[in-house]
Amino acid sequence: MFTQYELPYGFASLEPHIDELTMVTHYTKHHAGYTSNLNATLEKHPDLAKPTIEELLGSLDSIADEAVRTTIRNNGGGYWNHNLYFSTISPEASTKPAGALLRRIETDFGSFDELKERLGALALSRFGSGWAWLSVDRSGTLKATSTANQDNPLMDGSSLRPILGIDVWEHAYYLKYRNLRADYIKAFWNILDWNAVARLYEAAT
Ligand code: MN
Repeated sequence: MFTQYELPYGFASLEPHIDELTMVTHYTKHHAGYTSNLNATLEKHPDLAKPTIEELLGSLDSIADEAVRTTIRNNGGGYWNHNLYFSTISPEASTKPAGALLRRIETDFGSFDELKERLGALALSRFGSGWAWLSVDRSGTLKATSTANQDNPLMDGSSLRPILGIDVWEHAYYLKYRNLRADYIKAFWNILDWNAVARLYEAAT
C-alpha cells in the first residue's frame, strides 16, 4: 500500500507562485488519484508487488499484461513523480544550491544559471504533458532530461535517479498561468527548495 507524501505546508502557502486551487486540485485529486489507482491495481495483481516503488518502476518490462503494465506505468509514475515534486517545493525554499551540489552543477552545466536555462528549455519544449528532470547517475554526474506523460528516468534502465522534477502537465499551472507555461516555470524557481534537492543528491551519491 503506497501512501502520498504528506505536505508539511498549507495549500495556500505557495501563493503567489502556485495558487491554492491548483495545489488543492493537484494534490487531493491528481496525486491522490494516481495513488489510489496504483494501489487498486496492485491489490488485483499481488504477484506484481515489489518492496519499493522504485523497483516496481524499474522493472515494468517484466509485466506481461500490456494493459496492466500501462496502468502501473502511468499511475506508479504519477505517484512517484508527485511525491518528488511536492517534497521539493516549499514556501520557505532555499532558492540557490550550495556546497557539493553547487560544485557539481558548475562542473556539469557551467553555472547555476545555465542549469536553470537548460531545465527551463526542456520543460518549455516538452510537447503536451510531461516532466523535465535533473537526475544523478551512478558516477555522480548530473543529467537534465525530459519525459512525456508520467514517465520518469527510473523507467528507462539508465541508472538515473531524479532529484528534481518540473511538472509541466497543464493541471500544474493552467488555472493561474493559462497557456503561459514559461511564466509558471519562472515562478517554479521561487518555490524549489535546493536544500531538499541537495538531500536527495547526497542520498543518491
Ligand atoms: Mn501533476
